[in-house]
Amino acid sequence: MAAKHQGRSGRPWARIKARWKATSRICYLCGHWIPADVPPNHPLEYTVDHIDPRSKGGPPTMENTAPAHRRCNSRKGVKALAELELLKTSRAW
Ligand SMILES: [Zn+2]
Repeated sequence: MAAKHQGRSGRPWARIKARWKATSRICYLCGHWIPADVPPNHPLEYTVDHIDPRSKGGPPTMENTAPAHRRCNSRKGVKALAELELLKTSRAW
């Protein structure tokens, strides 16, 4: 019953995040500065996003990730959904 699995999103991911924090504080989505001291789950919180979603299952690397505001990060997801909707409607010709 000793399930002490770290999982894929354990240490390496935290390491990448810490590395990004030390390297860059510019959001790659909106190009604005990401403030250092915001409370957790704040819209401007520092998050690290996967650039290529296909690599989500693989180990996180600096090449496939970039810093972004929490707000921008989730907005990107919304945009992707909107594009899917567009594809659906344009099929109706
Ligand atoms: Zn941003």
